[in-house]
Amino acid sequence: MYLKKIEIYGFKSFADKIELEFDEGVTAVVGPNGSGKSNIADAVRWVLGEQSAKNLRGSKMEDVIFAGTEKRKPLGYAEVSLVIDNSLGELPIEYNEVRITRRVFRSGESEFYINKSLCRLKDIHQLFMDTGLGKEGYSIVGQGKIDEILSASSEDRRYIFEEAAGIVKYKARKIEAEKKLSRTEQNLLRINDIIKELE
Ligand code: ATP
Repeated sequence: MYLKKIEIYGFKSFADKIELEFDEGVTAVVGPNGSGKSNIADAVRWVLGEQSAKNLRGSKMEDVIFAGTEKRKPLGYAEVSLVIDNSLGELPIEYNEVRITRRVFRSGESEFYINKSLCRLKDIHQLFMDTGLGKEGYSIVGQGKIDEILSASSEDRRYIFEEAAGIVKYKARKIEAEKKLSRTEQNLLRINDIIKELE
């Protein structure tokens, strides 16, 4: 699995649609200060489901939409797509190429797509769970992240190792099953109460 392409429109400093194609192996993005290098990493994090404006270096989600310049009007929405090579089937979806898209409007409404079909944020999380590529994945190491990991609590550090070991999805399923079990127990209690009332 590798990132083949990023398409960005209206996200932060990218007012025009741009397409960045990547090959397998190492790619370096170079450019002067303030030219938008970190905005590309923000775009990747955002499309993978980042919900915190602060983690995207803004104060509200609307800040990711191109805010305009002296010569250009602000835009009404931002859209980013990642095209991922899945020919080895590491993502649990039967496509050799997977396209993930996120769009946000100034109203704050966000839309997610997997291969152009509308989906929930939860579907994106599930798709990338345990691959290391999700929004919490260790594949994006931001400035200051290494220090953060070294000074993180042992519990937070354990989460990083669990994601790398590929067991996060089982833990998530366990939590869901426990919630269902607890709901069923509540329902059983209620049924028993009704039976007692009827007796
Ligand atoms: P450095 O090398 O200094 O870290 P960089 O190449 O990583 O810089 P970024 O931080 O990615 O640069 O880009 C910063 C630029 O993005 C700033 O000029 C800022 O004005 C612009 N920018 C951020 N958000 C928006 C937005 N919503 N609309 C327009 N421009 C924006």
